[in-house]
Amino acid sequence: MASVVARERLDPRPDGDRVAGDVGLRARPGVDAACGALREGGGRSRPDAGRGGGAQQDRFPAGTQQIAQRLAERLGDRVRLGTIVRRIEQRADGTLSVGADGGDVTARAVIVAIPPAHRASIDFSPDLPAEYEKLARHWPQGSLSKAYAAYETPYWRANGCSGEALSDEGPVFITFDVSPGDDGPGILLGFTDPRTFDPLPAHERRERALDGFAALFGDKAREPVDYIDHCWGAEEFAPGGPTAAVPPGSWTTYGPWLRKPVNGIHWAGTETADEWTGFLDGAVRSGRRAAAEVHAELSG
Ligand SMILES: Cc1cc2nc3c(=O)[nH]c(=O)nc-3n(C[C@H](O)[C@H](O)[C@H](O)COP(=O)(O)OP(=O)(O)OC[C@H]3O[C@@H](n4cnc5c(N)ncnc54)[C@H](O)[C@@H]3O)c2cc1C
Repeated sequence: MASVVARERLDPRPDGDRVAGDVGLRARPGVDAACGALREGGGRSRPDAGRGGGAQQDRFPAGTQQIAQRLAERLGDRVRLGTIVRRIEQRADGTLSVGADGGDVTARAVIVAIPPAHRASIDFSPDLPAEYEKLARHWPQGSLSKAYAAYETPYWRANGCSGEALSDEGPVFITFDVSPGDDGPGILLGFTDPRTFDPLPAHERRERALDGFAALFGDKAREPVDYIDHCWGAEEFAPGGPTAAVPPGSWTTYGPWLRKPVNGIHWAGTETADEWTGFLDGAVRSGRRAAAEVHAELSG
């Protein structure tokens, strides 16, 4: 198969759900990955993600950063931006000292909400039990980059195309239509393979991505009014994506320590969710679960 272009409109979109599922599976090889994908849907098959109740049922036209921004507005100066946590130390009186750039914080409990692989960048004192350290080393992040091309209108819709496609040719291997409406602008999003995409100079990444869009949606795709891409692997604090790429054996060997509290430290983040791990939905679920744990611990 060279490529599949979903000709059905977005709703219903029989091919679209398969396309969405492949984004996650692409980053997760092995039997564990398949089991994880099934688990994510709470026992349902992952391809339900784009339907009612699924993790991908909604889009935020102005971007998902709004969630963090609006929450931060409500929290005020309790949110410290640009503050890297370097050390978490348990004191003799049972409290925890969080050592961060810009000042330490003392707390009775701490929730660490970063991907498991990044836990290794924090110096824990006393040392965490060996299983936690091994977990961090065996729960690596996946790897995806993204390219967006904007057009006057979502012209592919006029041809009955949904904008969703799979391809095994070139760096763009999955596309989605992320246009805000029918009248324009039309925006195509393509997930790209960072192994071949990221090392290219910016102008070549653009050319290769537009070639990929053109192969799927016609030559008009080569003339966008705007273009942007992002190499997620280059991010220091959120590298890779969209979630962990758990290798075979890690779930069964290290899974029990993924969210097990230790020394007053609780674990959140989408990778620790028991449903929709890897999605924003899973991140929120994990935050609620960790908050409930801390509440029970402090009021117990
Ligand atoms: C390319 C890509 C596409 C995606 N597409 C989708 C999608 O379509 N739908 C969907 O639901 N999800 C998608 N996701 C996944 C979604 O972004 C994640 O599931 C979600 O952001 C996880 O939230 P989180 O709070 O667990 O972790 P994060 O959002 O990673 O937040 C962790 C935060 O901790 C900070 N941090 C890390 N280390 C430290 C430290 N030592 N000190 C202080 N701060 C630190 C980081 O800077 C970051 O802000 C995508 C992800 C990527 C990369």
